[in-house]
Amino acid sequence: RLYNEVQELKGNIRVYCRIRPFLPGQNSRQTSIEYIGENGELVVANPFKQGKDTHRLFKFNKVFGQAATQEEVFLDTRPLIRSILDGYNVCIFAYGQTGSGKTYTMSGPSITSKEDWGVNYRALNDLFNLTQIRQNTVVYEVGVQMVEIYNEQVRDILSDGGVWNTALPNGLAVPDASMHSVRSTEDVLELMNIGLMNRTVGATALNERSSRSHCVLSVHVRGVDVETDSVLRGSLHLVDLAGSERVDRSEVTGDRLKEAQHINKSLSALGDVIFALAHKNPHVPYRNSKLTQVLQSSLGGQAKTLMFVQVNPDGDSYAETVSTLKFAERVS
Ligand code: ADP
Ligand code: MG
Repeated sequence: RLYNEVQELKGNIRVYCRIRPFLPGQNSRQTSIEYIGENGELVVANPFKQGKDTHRLFKFNKVFGQAATQEEVFLDTRPLIRSILDGYNVCIFAYGQTGSGKTYTMSGPSITSKEDWGVNYRALNDLFNLTQIRQNTVVYEVGVQMVEIYNEQVRDILSDGGVWNTALPNGLAVPDASMHSVRSTEDVLELMNIGLMNRTVGATALNERSSRSHCVLSVHVRGVDVETDSVLRGSLHLVDLAGSERVDRSEVTGDRLKEAQHINKSLSALGDVIFALAHKNPHVPYRNSKLTQVLQSSLGGQAKTLMFVQVNPDGDSYAETVSTLKFAERVS
């Protein structure tokens, strides 16, 4: 059996917290992680301060501890992927400070070993497997877009050598970004490599740039039932967000300050949109950032949202960890 569902997803917004392991050289005794419960509880504390009042309790849909594998993390994401073929729009984010494991969760440390694959490769692999299974009655087409959002500007990072696929006209696409038709996971891997390479052009170092821009991979699925001629459309947006760390205004100037302001603005706009959706507010403020504009069609309505809240367990990161967890708590 392909599908080994852990649980049916209820509600449209879920928040999973993932704590990454200590890296070589980090002192694992100075951790901010006090307790992880079975039902999504997380207690953090400042290891450099004494006293109970420094403990904070958070509650999420699930908390993945340091030992969680890529496969375990994906198991809980799988039902969402299946729903795309039933016509749902799904958005998966990774939020957290730089170095907390966003890229590890979304893409993985490498693509050469399948075990390392992050959510995006596994999701696409599942999508292709599923479309094959259902293919006798439904014919599927899959199109991919990839954009980077940096300083409130959207850049198509697949535009070189790209083909516009007019067979996928749908209102869900990111406007003006090239759409690439794909038939297999390998096709997607190839495109993503191109995208990641384009992303680094002009940047001083990969890490530098990737931590200050948002990367959005959009997958559009269109299924035509050959017997009834009915058409179903679903989409998946996989978002590796810019680092959420606070930048000390007294220490940065010029370009760095501008970048930091753009990141703050877009992450708080995202928080406001998800907050409004979670609380069923009649007004959802999509227009406040490029990020929320690009994702508008896949946030809200029948769309399903999953946020991975990434945590660095190091005690030195305590303040950032609390601010990350507060952001997540507000939207969940
Ligand atoms: P971010 O994208 O949030 O800046 P990364 O995904 O690049 O963070 O992770 C920072 C470092 O931690 C990398 O060296 C990465 O390989 C490692 N790392 C992150 N999460 C895990 C994990 N779950 N298991 C092992 N190593 C991890
Ligand atoms: Mg990253």
